[in-house]
Amino acid sequence: MKDTPTVSGRPRVPVMLPLPLAGAYDYAVPAPMALRPGEFVSVPLNQREVLGVVWDAPEVPEANPVPDRRLKPVASVLPAPPMTASLRRFIDWVAAYTLSPPGAVLRMAMSVPAALEAPAPQAGWTLAPPGNSRPRITPERQRVLDVLRAGEVHAGALLAQAAGVSLGVLRGMAENGLLRPALLPRNRRFARPDPSHPGPALGPAQAAAGAALRNRVAAQRFGVTLLTGVTGSGKTEVYLDAVAECLARGRQALVLLPEIALSTQWLERFEARFGVAPALWHSEITSRTRRDTWRAVAEGEAPVVVGARSALFLPFPDLGLIVVDEEHETAFKQEEGVVYHARDMAVVRARLSQAACVLVSATPSLESLTNVEAGRYTALDLPERHGGASLPVVEVVDLRRTPPERGRFLAPPLVEAVTATIERGEQAMLFLNRRGYAPLTLCRHCGHRMRCPNCTAWLVEHRAKRLLQCHHCGHAEPPPAECPECGTANSLTAVGPGVERVMEEANALWPDARRLVMASDTLPGPAAAAEAARAIQDREVDLIIGTQIVAKGWHFPHLTLVGVVDADLGLAGGDLRAAERTVQLLHQVAGRAGRAEAPGRVLLQSFSPEHPVMQALISGDLAAFMQEEAAMRRPGHWPPFGRLAALIVSAEEEREADRTARDLGLAAPGGEGVQVLGPAPAPLALLRGRHRRRLLLKTRRDIAVQPILREWLARVPVPNHVRVQVDVDPVGF
Ligand code: ADP
Ligand code: ZN
Repeated sequence: MKDTPTVSGRPRVPVMLPLPLAGAYDYAVPAPMALRPGEFVSVPLNQREVLGVVWDAPEVPEANPVPDRRLKPVASVLPAPPMTASLRRFIDWVAAYTLSPPGAVLRMAMSVPAALEAPAPQAGWTLAPPGNSRPRITPERQRVLDVLRAGEVHAGALLAQAAGVSLGVLRGMAENGLLRPALLPRNRRFARPDPSHPGPALGPAQAAAGAALRNRVAAQRFGVTLLTGVTGSGKTEVYLDAVAECLARGRQALVLLPEIALSTQWLERFEARFGVAPALWHSEITSRTRRDTWRAVAEGEAPVVVGARSALFLPFPDLGLIVVDEEHETAFKQEEGVVYHARDMAVVRARLSQAACVLVSATPSLESLTNVEAGRYTALDLPERHGGASLPVVEVVDLRRTPPERGRFLAPPLVEAVTATIERGEQAMLFLNRRGYAPLTLCRHCGHRMRCPNCTAWLVEHRAKRLLQCHHCGHAEPPPAECPECGTANSLTAVGPGVERVMEEANALWPDARRLVMASDTLPGPAAAAEAARAIQDREVDLIIGTQIVAKGWHFPHLTLVGVVDADLGLAGGDLRAAERTVQLLHQVAGRAGRAEAPGRVLLQSFSPEHPVMQALISGDLAAFMQEEAAMRRPGHWPPFGRLAALIVSAEEEREADRTARDLGLAAPGGEGVQVLGPAPAPLALLRGRHRRRLLLKTRRDIAVQPILREWLARVPVPNHVRVQVDVDPVGF
């Protein structure tokens, strides 16, 4: 680390503040303070004091630095472990890649300012070493000496209480040389997982993959491995082995999961493997746990963290392994604020930390497969289900030939299969990726559709709550008694199904079956999800009706039938990855069916059984499907064979959004391998009351988009109330 740079005799340091500023601000270092990069400091800013981090001297000195005499001094240094160079470089990297202000990225790494403040030094008392004087031992003092054994430190209040004396007695004993003040040992809230705790005996393919991963971790160098394998092949046990290796080397491990709050089964397996629970990091932990976890990570006391994408910004001093489970999941993309993809940034963080990175999926993204093909990542595959279990058989129910009865959504072949499954005493699941009762409410008289006042979206009926809701902005209103357009009473009618409506149909079809809905609004938290999983495992449920949360790595050993109510649902719209994502989602859902004891069956209700997506799901040959996808995207330089960035222009006034979008379009960059599409209405042309336009910058893979974007944005003035959001590598378009 460099020493504090000195400019014209007076030391100054750049301090990065967790605010959306263009860069670091310089501050004077008052004598005798000495500062090193990474230290957390408190500095004055506009009559306030704010926390920041001493950054590294910029490579290129500022053109017009504030003169030394006008610099404000750093107020104080915080007693927290300094931010490591690897985390500082990660923050710089994410900022540069996403075109975000570095301070906005720093803010994610400083999400718990309270953790930086001094942990109150917990005072306690211990026995003083015997001295020459012989103080008087009263009965009260004797009771204290009886409680306090040599080498122990007790908190004053507890000691006084245990001995039945006042605190004054303790102070008197200290004055007389009997006791000595001492600091209490810190609570060790984060138990150390035991890397040698016996895990399950790995099968041969698992053992081979596990050994390969252990070697990668043992090398203590950067490298990315893509661990694939059919659902139920035992990938989790394999990467937990890599975690054990990392722990044995004394380095920290981070596991990212897409839906951590619902991953109760995963946590149980971790505990079974290591004897203790890992530290958790996600938006639903209490602020106290946040503070303790942040601090424990910084001090190296939390050896394993399991978290959501934001855990990438935790202050690990020595990260040896990052695992991204379900790496294909779009939940890893953060769309608000700093727009980044946690899978891609995990690779960057691993590189800067000299750590191994393991991406895990039964349905890997085309991005990761392409990186394997190009030799950038190593591939490991588990070709079979653990314990010789067979994969489910997938069939299509052709809705053109065997349609459901009028006003219903389950076709006869699916209804029969569910009935037979329940009669055999096995479990069935109906999957529909749509919350609520109906996605559209329509007036039978005039055709008026109920839409959100703030968004380009229909209102979704939630019948149980008696509300029409917008799934984008949260707008909610009770269903009107008459059509707001033509005034006809009782003319509004529900169109299409959501899970609530499928449940209603199931109630009528299987009144005696025990039914359970699994959706994010019926399972609001980890406790509810855990309880649902337990009830299913203990066979207290016959029929599960769920949205996409049922696709997330659950193990339901008695589930043998999965029915997909609308397999075509994800294919509509112009999204580049619609087919890829539908295959991934439905394959994951299908993977819930069947275990060693009972083979599974999957029925896909579809209007287009010949669609390549349905064919891939039937054959189970996802690799071939992904090769077809690659063949379609490669010639046009679509991702991952080219680069893409979106500019979303938004304003409350439609005209203003249009004007800025047009200005950007007129100033669009060009040249060989560079193309701009748009401006056009963004996929949600109105969102939360803002009108949105979009321009897409598309380049060849060997051309970086960031310098082009920076130059482009610098050429176009943007009025104050217009926002231009940059989304590098957009996922939904
Ligand atoms: P995947 O992540 O590939 O879908 P999992 O790792 O979740 O597969 O394993 C599937 C199931 O098999 C889980 O119930 C798991 O507990 C079990 N399993 C995996 N490997 C072993 C093993 N070596 N011994 C015993 N059970 C295992
Ligand atoms: Zn809305």
